[in-house]
Amino acid sequence: MVTFRGKSAFGGIAVGRIHVYQKAQQPVKREHVADTQGEIGRFRRARELASEQLGELYEASLQKIGEAEAAIFEVHQIMLEDLDYIERIENSILSQEVNAEYAVTVASDHFSRMFAVMDDPYMRERAADVKDVSQRLIHVLTGNSAEQGGSENGIVTAAQPVILVAEDLAPSETAQLDQDKVLAFVTVQGSVNSHTAILARTMGIPALVSTRPDAAGGEEKGNIVLSSLDGKLGIVDGFTGTLYVEPEEKIMVEMQEKKAMEEEKKRLLQELKGKPTVTTDGRAVKLYANIGSMKDLALVKENDAEGIGLFRSEFIYLEKEDYPTEEEQFQVYKTVAETLAGKKVIIRTLDIGADKQADYFGIPREANPAMGYRAIRICLDRPEVLRTQLRAIYRASVYGDLAVMYPMIISSQEVHRVKELAREVRAQLQREGIPYRDMEQGIMVETPAAALISDRLAAEVDFFSIGTNDLTQYTLAMDRQNPKLDDFYDPHHPAVLRLIQMVVENAHKAGIWAGICGELGADTSLARTFLQMGVDELSVSPAKVLPVRRAIRETRVED
Ligand code: PEP
Ligand code: MG
Repeated sequence: MVTFRGKSAFGGIAVGRIHVYQKAQQPVKREHVADTQGEIGRFRRARELASEQLGELYEASLQKIGEAEAAIFEVHQIMLEDLDYIERIENSILSQEVNAEYAVTVASDHFSRMFAVMDDPYMRERAADVKDVSQRLIHVLTGNSAEQGGSENGIVTAAQPVILVAEDLAPSETAQLDQDKVLAFVTVQGSVNSHTAILARTMGIPALVSTRPDAAGGEEKGNIVLSSLDGKLGIVDGFTGTLYVEPEEKIMVEMQEKKAMEEEKKRLLQELKGKPTVTTDGRAVKLYANIGSMKDLALVKENDAEGIGLFRSEFIYLEKEDYPTEEEQFQVYKTVAETLAGKKVIIRTLDIGADKQADYFGIPREANPAMGYRAIRICLDRPEVLRTQLRAIYRASVYGDLAVMYPMIISSQEVHRVKELAREVRAQLQREGIPYRDMEQGIMVETPAAALISDRLAAEVDFFSIGTNDLTQYTLAMDRQNPKLDDFYDPHHPAVLRLIQMVVENAHKAGIWAGICGELGADTSLARTFLQMGVDELSVSPAKVLPVRRAIRETRVED
């Protein structure tokens, strides 16, 4: 038995065969570079960063596994220092005026071929190491390649449901998982606050991120090790963040018992279906669910959500190779509206960018994408994209109780511009004789700027939905994607809670409602605090609806 430990993105027990997902390598393109000195500087910085990464991996493996296994990272570090290797790369950048990625690929091919034909078996093995270390360099040069995400369809083709193990999964890949085929997923990379982790919670499947071999023994990350897990029996314990590979009989029995207990707990929660979400002293709160696609609708029903408080519509875009048409989007929104049969559905307009990338948008690579060209900024810059989406939403509005909300707002001017666009869309539909309803229009409050001017914004919109994931990230100046910061990322920070309180107060002063659709909404330890603040709605992942309902029904707001 080999044991791995990760950070739990969602609890639960899964038992099944492991399927290792290897991302298809993106071919490196040759590009002409005029500023060859600048390109050499870029290569040198990447080399330093790659070397730092290897140093960290060496230290971590030394402590956890031992000298012999850690040594490989030292070998890779030495390769990065090799003068022949460096010279070859820098010379091709200079003489051929090519990009660093391409020069690294060419050098990698050259040296790996050279090693592969050597007589000494030890030297022959180095061929794979040259490729590994070059790949690391290319990853650094291109940014985090895992986040750029290949968007292959149907990444799991196994006949039976499997435990998916991968180096990393981009949100676009996670969204495309066939939910019936995946029992759990485990990634070597990733943070608990990333969209990939959020998607696991939405799907309600056990998931581990930032997974490493257990200190007691095991293997280090990397393709070779990952592939060695393929096909083996695994158990994911999402409660303790553990992956057991080829579990011992004792663990197998223990986990089966834990699974049975979990199922019993779920069964007890079923009794809350159809019951109101109201405190013991009569304070009611709306309890909605967050979804990313139509695939999640079954979970919304199963878990008795009272509506949908956040439909992350960007996943419609992430699942495609090109812009979804108005008609395609209309069909999705109509189906969601009809399925909810008159219950509220709040569609968030496209929140693409940062970790959610679709190649066809051609979003330039940025140093700080979370603070960059994303969400409403893209939509205001490319109004035709938002116009198409709004037409689809308005057309679908007659099939249910739809509302629309805009992400990443920071100013009244932005609200004016999107509302103007919505007005134009309504006028156009009217001219064309296409029916629509006047939907509520709200904004996500997920930047400190929006929270701090929520008194002004409240006069412009029909509701606020507080996105605590981003609000925490921006208030604490803490990248939610960075797993190193998971222990520092504190959504209970008084600054975040004060901003939430301020937003709710300003909403009520202006006579509008305010909800929470970030992950914090499902934190039952804050249920009473939120109710005391006057939060009107909580929108949580479907699997959290009944646990939150239970917590609220056991809460008394007044002292
Ligand atoms: C949030 O930021 O809290 C939110 C709900 O939006 P997302 O997690 O999709 O960024
Ligand atoms: Mg957000």
